[in-house]
Amino acid sequence: MDEKEKQLDKLDVFASTQKVIKKALDKLGYPNEMYELMKEPIRMLTVRIPVRMDDGSTKIFTGFRAQHNDAVGPTKGGVRFHPNVTEKEVKALSIWMSLKAGIVDLPYGGGKGGIICDPRQMSFRELERLSRGYVRAISQIVGPTKDIPAPDAFTNSQIMAWMLDEYSRIREFDSPGFITGKPIVLGGSHGRESATANGVTICIKEAAKKKGLNLEDARVIIQGFGNAGSFLAKFLHDAGALVVGISDAYGALYDPEGLDIEYLLDRRDSFGTVTKLFKETMTNEELLEQECDILVPAASENQITEDNAHQIKASIVVEAANGPTTIEGTNILTERDILLVPDVLASAGGVTVSYFEWVQNNQGYYWTEAEVERKLEAVMIQAFDSTYHLARSRKVDMRLAAYMVGVRKMAEASRFRGWI
Ligand code: NAD
Repeated sequence: MDEKEKQLDKLDVFASTQKVIKKALDKLGYPNEMYELMKEPIRMLTVRIPVRMDDGSTKIFTGFRAQHNDAVGPTKGGVRFHPNVTEKEVKALSIWMSLKAGIVDLPYGGGKGGIICDPRQMSFRELERLSRGYVRAISQIVGPTKDIPAPDAFTNSQIMAWMLDEYSRIREFDSPGFITGKPIVLGGSHGRESATANGVTICIKEAAKKKGLNLEDARVIIQGFGNAGSFLAKFLHDAGALVVGISDAYGALYDPEGLDIEYLLDRRDSFGTVTKLFKETMTNEELLEQECDILVPAASENQITEDNAHQIKASIVVEAANGPTTIEGTNILTERDILLVPDVLASAGGVTVSYFEWVQNNQGYYWTEAEVERKLEAVMIQAFDSTYHLARSRKVDMRLAAYMVGVRKMAEASRFRGWI
């Protein structure tokens, strides 16, 4: 590999996920065959979806569905609509879903889907036709006991409702457990929309206890002000923390005295953009290096790398986004004794409440928001504790510990089934 290829390899989330899985399986004493099984999804479907556009033309979209491993149970994971979706990204995300399901001990393997499209350039009805077309294209391999989709980047409860309706028409019966993240009236769960941020908040509280930090005195920076970042800003602000920095794709705001979170929440648009309203902003790169106690990347991949990890001032980094820290970034944070709560643990609240939604659909009996939150808290604290203790007892970093916890059940189930 030449220098340029080495650089690209470091930023390749799929390659880095495979590396950590290999390390986790080696540490747990599994043979290489187990890694060969787990390094790729067991099933990967690519589909072409013709959609009649509003101007009468037909556009053909490409979509994917990856199912990583179904030894434990049906696969589960979101569908993203984004121009930058790639097959590789969908594969990596399906592996992360397996790890998350393992960490919070759900009876699922990981799945993920995506469509290459720009929903910001599409009308409401075009989005409906695309969502229905995707379900028709993947209907053979999904279902409430096979593979259960959910929302992800740029998909929401309306899109889940169209997908549910299309699936129910194909199967000729109502099947609410086919998909999660639905509107409440169609069998959605209370607390689903804010579940990821809720789970991240629980991890932040647990991490603060370990570091002897009082959340009410803590200064927090949140990168990204979308679904995850904005709910998180609200929860932390409500918990008494001082949110000193936030950002979106266009810039960042920082005030050591604390930002006016209520104003920012009120003014953000549905894509999580708010900094355009301000004249004085800084770059996202600058924001990550500002003074704070807790840093939460909640935007995109490869934000903390070997180039900036030495400059991070926080004593706790909690990854709400998927893949925001490279392997080299992780090593530097760990060496500097910064407590890193990795993505596969911190952002597992979303899939946990999706699981609660599916359980409620299966039993036809629905829980209150308080019940959902209580159950989520118990699951997240248990997951945090097992990862933290494994990291300490095996003297490994938090990411490797989370992968070890996440992969163990799936590996055991694959072994019991006689696959390996
Ligand atoms: P979103 O699309 O709602 O919001 C993304 C936010 O990040 C927006 O404010 C956007 O302006 C900002 N952003 C984009 N690129 C940026 C950049 N380079 N620098 C700074 N800000 C940038 O997305 P979301 O649902 O909030 O998800 C954010 C991250 O959290 C993603 O990595 C996602 O995979 C992960 N995540 C989200 C959920 C969930 O339930 N929403 C669950 C698990 C993981």
